[in-house]
Amino acid sequence: MKVFTARDLTQSHILDLKNKGLSIGLVPTMGALHQGHLALVKQAKQHNDIVIVSIFVNPTQFNNSSDLEKYPRTLEDDLKKLQSVNCDLVFTPTTEEMYDANEKAEIFDFDGLDKEMEGKFRDNHFNGVGTIVKKLFNITTPTNAYFGEKDFQQLQIIKKLVEITQQPVNIIGCTIHREADGLAMSSRNTRLSKEHRESAPFIYETLTQAKKLANTSTPSEVEKYVSDKFNNHHNLVLEYFSVANENDLKTATSFSNTQKQRGFIAAFAGEIRLIDNIALYELSN
Ligand code: AMP
Repeated sequence: MKVFTARDLTQSHILDLKNKGLSIGLVPTMGALHQGHLALVKQAKQHNDIVIVSIFVNPTQFNNSSDLEKYPRTLEDDLKKLQSVNCDLVFTPTTEEMYDANEKAEIFDFDGLDKEMEGKFRDNHFNGVGTIVKKLFNITTPTNAYFGEKDFQQLQIIKKLVEITQQPVNIIGCTIHREADGLAMSSRNTRLSKEHRESAPFIYETLTQAKKLANTSTPSEVEKYVSDKFNNHHNLVLEYFSVANENDLKTATSFSNTQKQRGFIAAFAGEIRLIDNIALYELSN
């Protein structure tokens, strides 16, 4: 497994591989890797000759400097995990390698996708995501790039990004990986206190109950149900729960057969912000 920090070296190495006719799969990450990330790598391995994982904690997508500072960084451990799933190349640049001094996020027109849900609470977040992903695509020129449905809004925005930038890459969405108790895997989970880690599966439990309720209720009834559940919870605080259409991410006023809808949630466990979502259209158990 090669580990590169320089963008020029990465770019020229990949160009050589592409000239040999090899396909490239890219999995962009911010490190602190868990099984959810590795599942993306395994999926990429199945469909590409060469798999590249980028590890870069991207400053322009953080609107909270303390969250950026405290973001877990575990490079040595990450490299071991990537080796174990036969990753071919890791690109782990410094901030200086990716950004000029004082460079800000590029502003994109995501057709309103960035204004919903996360966009209401994380100012400029998706411009930061778009900026770094565009740069990563330019450097690694992947055939396919893999993103988790855990960040479903991000996945839709990346699809819009390649439409806007005309970068020739297929965007592949991958299902959410969960701990045995249902908690969506996240690098942030390692920062949960013991008490909050015990409470956190409540988020997915509530999503699955919301999904059952969606069979017989309106979106606003489901939203009220979730908000009441959190109001009665002793140590989790709901930031938002929204029933929204998958394609335009707009709040749904009714469940329809023509639009696929999901429940999207963000909640605080102490100072750790957790997000999750669930498809509401597949049959409930
Ligand atoms: P991150 O390192 O948090 O930026 O995540 C890197 C990629 O892994 C993103 O495309 C995420 O959506 C994806 N990812 C993170 N957690 C999970 C998970 N639990 N299941 C599936 N994909 C995930």
